[in-house]
Amino acid sequence: MSETPKKQWHGIPRDEVPWLPTVDPEACIGCQLCYVTCGRGVYEMHDGIAVAVSAMECMVGCSTCGNVCPTGAISFPNMDLIWKMERERQIFRTVKKEALRKHEREDALKARDAAMSAARPVIATRAKVELAGEFGDKKFLLRLEALIENEPFDIVNLRLEVPTVKGARQKAPSFMTFEVTSERQEGVAPFLERVTTLVRDAGLVLVAATPVA
Ligand code: SF4
Ligand code: SF4
Repeated sequence: MSETPKKQWHGIPRDEVPWLPTVDPEACIGCQLCYVTCGRGVYEMHDGIAVAVSAMECMVGCSTCGNVCPTGAISFPNMDLIWKMERERQIFRTVKKEALRKHEREDALKARDAAMSAARPVIATRAKVELAGEFGDKKFLLRLEALIENEPFDIVNLRLEVPTVKGARQKAPSFMTFEVTSERQEGVAPFLERVTTLVRDAGLVLVAATPVA
């Protein structure tokens, strides 16, 4: 039967690294902050007192639970011990290889994410509409309002540009722009079709209907 490989800290067996939390049971008030803080399952609560039952799971150099303990009940060895070990056991050759592997993993993940986002179709949830024509008698805004009623879309940033009031009375063209937006962040393309049909049915000139990604 093959043996489970020993946990290592940058090439050093973890059980040779003297970094372990120690709880002073006299100082512990059982608040359980260390128990919920530690993501490595180091602590259990025994009779209302924190016990570091899996101390070897503690991440070397971490002292978070000790820092947050309200009574200072948790202590760690002096960091000098760790720094001395780093030098004497020459961990940095191992660290360099580990860093290289980490860079490779991260680069591969970034490349995968970039490939996935390149393959994903861009769905426009907004579109800009520009139109021109004579708006006076056409009740266009009322028809537009009726179109969006009970639909998960809205018309925003609507602007009407009338070059001359006298000219408008004589049916000179004005210009309108607005944006169609989705209230549910869905694609607006099918609804945009209905808007452009409405524009044409109203006898107006559709200058552009441009999806905005
Ligand atoms: S945080 Fe401190 S006082 Fe609270 S349970 Fe842990 S050791 Fe005890
Ligand atoms: S120092 Fe960090 S890893 Fe170690 S027991 Fe405390 S919270 Fe967990």
